Parts: sequence; C-alpha cells; structure tokens
Amino acid sequence: MERISRRIAAIAESATLAVDAKAKALKAAGRPVIGFGAGEPDFPTPEYIVEAAQAASAQPRMHKYSPTPGLPELREAIAAKTLRDSGYQASPSQVLVTNGGKQAVYTAFATLLDPGDEILVVAPYWTTYPEAIKLAGAVQVDVVTDEHSGYLATVEQLEAARTPRTKALLFASPANPTGAVYPPEQVVAIGRWADEHGLWVITDEIYEHLTYGNAKFNSIATVVPELGDRVVILNGVAKTYAMTGWRVGWLIGAPDVVAAATNLQSHLTSNVCNVAQAAALAAVSGDLSAVDQMRQAFDRRRRTMVTMLNDIPGVVCPEPLGAFYAYPSVKGLLGRELRGRRPETSAELAALVLEEAEVALVPGEAFGTPGYFRLSYALGDTDLVEGLTRLGKLLTEAQPAH
Ligand code: PMP
Repeated sequence: MERISRRIAAIAESATLAVDAKAKALKAAGRPVIGFGAGEPDFPTPEYIVEAAQAASAQPRMHKYSPTPGLPELREAIAAKTLRDSGYQASPSQVLVTNGGKQAVYTAFATLLDPGDEILVVAPYWTTYPEAIKLAGAVQVDVVTDEHSGYLATVEQLEAARTPRTKALLFASPANPTGAVYPPEQVVAIGRWADEHGLWVITDEIYEHLTYGNAKFNSIATVVPELGDRVVILNGVAKTYAMTGWRVGWLIGAPDVVAAATNLQSHLTSNVCNVAQAAALAAVSGDLSAVDQMRQAFDRRRRTMVTMLNDIPGVVCPEPLGAFYAYPSVKGLLGRELRGRRPETSAELAALVLEEAEVALVPGEAFGTPGYFRLSYALGDTDLVEGLTRLGKLLTEAQPAH
C-alpha cells in the first residue's frame, strides 16, 4: 500500500503559487526580485469592506456556525449582483457561497463529473482546472489555441474534440492565463453549439469586471438562455475587490446542482467564515468604483507591458483584453545560447530569467502550453517597467540558434 493515496499523490503543486513563493523567498533573502507571478491585485481591500468585516466580528451571531450554503443576506445580494452585472436571473437559493472561487471550481467538477466523463478545456488553461477535474476522476480534453487566434477557440475546434463521452465545456472569458476575451458573437456560437449537443457549460466569470478597450464581458449563461439548467456560473470577490485573502467565492446553478454541491460542502468545510461573508456582502452590495479605479491602473500597465514585451526579439505577445495577464510566446528564444546555457523549454528559460535577471514569471508548462510565459501586470508601475527592462536586456543577449 502507498503512504499517500494515488489520487492525492497525483496532484501537482500550484505552479503559480510556487513561483510566487520562490520569488518571495529570494526577496526575503535580500535579492531584488521582481515578481510577475502572482495572480492578485496589488491594491488593499477598500476601506468600507474592511469596516463591514470589523463590525461583523463583534456580532455574536457571526461567532457561530451559519447555514452551509451561505448567509441568506449574502446569497440574496449575490443573486442581485449577478442580475445587475451579467443580466442573469437566479434566485438566492441557487447560490452556494464557497471558500474562494477555487472551491467553487472544485465543487462544480466534483458535483457534475463522473469517472470517465470528458470535459472540454481550452488551453492555455488556468492551472487549477486539471487537478480538480482529475480528482473527480474525469478526463480533460484540451482544445489548444495559440497566439495567432488571440487564444480563442472556435466552434470547429470544439466540435473536433467532442466525443459521445463529452459531458461539459469549461468556458472562461476573460481568461487566465491569456487575458483572452471572447467577442459576443463567438460566445453565442459556442453556447448554442453546447446546447445543441446537450453539453453542460461551466463558466468561470471571476474576471468579469476586468476588460479593456472595446472588449466587454458577456455571460454565456445570459446570452444563451437555451442552456437553461445545464449552466453553472463560478465567481468570487477576489479579483474585483482586491479580496484574494478573504476567500469568498460562489457557484450558481440549478436547484438540484446546488443542493448536491451543498451536501458536499456540508461535510468538507461547512459555512465560509462569517466575517469574510460580511465583507463580501459589503463588496457585492456596493458600487463598482473601486474596480473602476483598479481597472484604469491595470489598463495603463497592460499597454506598457505589451509594448515592452513585443520590443524583445523572439517574443510575440498578442494584446490581452481582460484579466491582468499577458501571455507572450517565447518559442523564438528556445534553443538559443544565453549566458552560457541553452534553455530548450520555457520552464528552463523562466528558471534562467529568475537567476540572471531576478525576474519571476510563470512558464507556459503550468497552463498546458509550453513555449510561453505568463506575466501578471497587477504590480506597481515602477517595478513593472524595471522588471520588463531587466527581462528585455537579458533576452536580447540570446544568440541565434545554429
Ligand atoms: N478562476 C480563475 C480563472 C482564477 O484565475 C482564479 C484565481 N487565480 C480563481 C478562479 C479563483 O480565485 P479565488 O479562489 O482566489 O477566489
């Protein structure tokens, strides 16, 4: 018998958290590392949200277990917020409040997928999806996109990957790690195709408020109402309100899905921390001025980053239209000599960049597509420019392959 179960031993460490931890450790040791690894806003949580949590922590009701699916007032506010922001109508009883968006992701797969069921996932994909899918015993089928399409999958690609065992499509727009945002007509086409084949759609909408230029978020659940009770929405407060540490997310689905998912959560974690739920209540009931301000800063940094990346020979970065990541191809640099080494993979190149330029970024291996880097632009402007300058200087030294 194994010491660690095969199921759990097969889980890979979160590569994004690992890069962030390594950068923080080097920084603590006095190295001037600039981290592009973390997927979190660099802003503090807005004051009115923190104050709501402070007030809640003094209430004895908040010191006790509360209903597993969430505080009734929060479920109601999430239903109202979803109607306001996505135009999607759900009753409060269709909302399950989870410990961060991550638990909503895990719960959705665990609730819907049986061993052997296939789920279509557009690659590059966020690093948590495959582990959560594997834990459900399901089979992830990748639909691979690249920089030439701006990392957008077409209906034809999805159809080519569909089999009689396909149960669901995971849809994420804006997407992590690419920042891709699907245009409305493509959201409709994909949703209708999924409906035509009786597929479930799990839609990760955590970056809904972070879009730039003319790009707009469109909830597939709203624009393709035919999906009906085969749609599950995943969301949370982390990215919109700079609340990554509070751990509040949610799942919205049909009553039977939410009932089953609540049963799972009742054994796994019970209710989410009440004080954090009170903070989330203040966040989702308030206006969007905090995220508007953050978005302006992100947009400025985004434009700087894309320009500086594309100025590096061998680097190709399509313009990200959402979230706070750029996802350049570095394939043009692989196999070239650089500081006495010859990195053959993006993982090796990222390790060399950390050592030689003291810049931390996540290699594409973490997102199912080697040959790329993910850089978050949720960091201060000065650090951003300094980090990209160092990166550019180093990579410009790469010698042409012979
Ligand atoms: N979905 C996506 C696409 C994400 O990038 C993240 C955070 N990295 C989450 C869900 C989960 O966020 P959290 O658990 O912090 O709410």
